[in-house]
Amino acid sequence: MSTTIKNIVVVGGGTAGWLSACILAKQLNCSASPDVSITLIESADIPPIGVGEGTVPTMRETLQLIGVDEADFIKSCDVTFKQSIQFNDWLHAPTTNQRHSYHHLFNYPHTPGFDLTPYWLMAEKKHSYSEYVSFQTAICELNLGPKRMTDRPYQSSLAYAYHLDAGKFASFLAEHGQKSLGIKHVFGTIADVSLADDGSIHTLFCQDGRQLSADFYVDCSGFSARLISETLKVKFVDKGDQLLVDRALALQVPYSDSDKEIPPFTISTAHEAGWTWDIGLTQRRGVGYVYSSSHTSDERAEQILRQYIGEECAGLSVRKIQMKIGYREKFWHKNCVAIGLAAGFVEPLEATALLTVEATAKLLAEKLPTNFDGMAYAEKSFNSISRYAWDRVIDFIKLHYYLSKRTDHKFWLDNTDPSTAPDSLLEKLAYWQYNLPSASDFASKYEVFQLENYQYVLYGMDFKTQINDITSRFPYANQADIAANQLSQHAKKMSKQLQSHRKLINNIKQYGINKI
Ligand SMILES: Cc1cc2nc3c(=O)[nH]c(=O)nc-3n(C[C@H](O)[C@H](O)[C@H](O)COP(=O)(O)OP(=O)(O)OC[C@H]3O[C@@H](n4cnc5c(N)ncnc54)[C@H](O)[C@@H]3O)c2cc1C
Repeated sequence: MSTTIKNIVVVGGGTAGWLSACILAKQLNCSASPDVSITLIESADIPPIGVGEGTVPTMRETLQLIGVDEADFIKSCDVTFKQSIQFNDWLHAPTTNQRHSYHHLFNYPHTPGFDLTPYWLMAEKKHSYSEYVSFQTAICELNLGPKRMTDRPYQSSLAYAYHLDAGKFASFLAEHGQKSLGIKHVFGTIADVSLADDGSIHTLFCQDGRQLSADFYVDCSGFSARLISETLKVKFVDKGDQLLVDRALALQVPYSDSDKEIPPFTISTAHEAGWTWDIGLTQRRGVGYVYSSSHTSDERAEQILRQYIGEECAGLSVRKIQMKIGYREKFWHKNCVAIGLAAGFVEPLEATALLTVEATAKLLAEKLPTNFDGMAYAEKSFNSISRYAWDRVIDFIKLHYYLSKRTDHKFWLDNTDPSTAPDSLLEKLAYWQYNLPSASDFASKYEVFQLENYQYVLYGMDFKTQINDITSRFPYANQADIAANQLSQHAKKMSKQLQSHRKLINNIKQYGINKI
């Protein structure tokens, strides 16, 4: 082993492996520099998990960073645009004449010099929180795409992310990573691993007898965690007592009508013992039910999923996926870092997995020491930042369940039992009962979710913040009304400039994206 880090091996060719390899190759300038090489090894016999169709807006920055052409990506990965997550029936179980629904938008609430939140709290609730504070609600409800044809790649006045075909995305990144970023790719199933005297990884032995050695290893081998767990024995911190879902059923539902409008948001609908995701791609929908096996049976879960989809799923077979909820005690150990499902998973709500992959790979590129002497500090710092970020993700996911007033199933009663919520979340909720959430409640640079994300969920879920003397503390109700009216006028203006979501996708496929 050299004293400098020159060779990196990434184990795993799922989205975590390819995204990490591309980010590292770009940041370490592998295509131009002979000093650092990245090799990705994946097993031809162990397929990637192939789910994970929702992303968040950071994906735009990441794709731009690694030099992906946005139009090529949209054409190759059956991409559609995502501007929000619409949450249905999370607050109350639906009744025949009443359903609850709210948006967690990607556009942050509009703040014309001041926060509109207290004025929404004081106003008669003619508008939902997201309608009051952002024009993006109207754009979503009209099924409009977020870009005008004049908007440049990755640019728009509306924040957006993507829905994508996970299998096609991994293949797309594989081609891009090899052609443009100098990543070497080999197939091989790792059967054994030898350790050096200091306990770090020395050599990977493949089933076919080939060997691979590197200075540093990135474990993206999925739930098997081939290096970080099987070899290095880093323990798993189980968070199943806080996030109760542990199984998923997934279905791909082809469109019966190829012109059907595509919602530019993910639809998340709560059911008796979990929730369904519903993601519209260009040729099909990806639909799945995430549930708790302690609260329902697989048969009942399949029945719920099929009822939700209706006759379009007749004859389609369901894929069952087991989920391990939690994360590694350490993400970086000796000369190995785990990224993706090998590092942990907290369930699909809010699409946090690829977001965590992006953030962790960027942090690794920043922290990777050029010399082994810096390794112990880099490991310690990386682990403390990563653990902080994972715990904050758990807080935010739990918030969605904890605020529910559903009483129709033990699943919801257990989810709203304070003993299942992290103290870090309970503390904030107690404070926000009488005080507005503010940016200072999210002070770390490594917060994954910010004030605005919390505001959408808290007030979408009818959270009550009771402020003493609210009218005298927030005396600008007239200005707030003017700002809210301006937002609704802006929604009307924007809706004339934007085209339908499906039309936008079709136009991008035909004409590309304006680069001037
Ligand atoms: C139900 C469900 C829904 C999800 N939805 C979302 C979502 O909407 N948004 C989101 O961001 N994320 C989502 N995720 C998470 C997302 O699917 C994963 O984070 C993402 O696909 C990355 O997976 P991965 O690359 O870590 O693992 P995998 O895709 O499992 O890839 C593992 C790779 O390791 C290789 N490998 C394994 N063992 C060996 C070995 N011994 N030798 C060599 N190679 C090996 C395999 O060949 C494979 O290439 C979801 C996950 C689940 C379970």
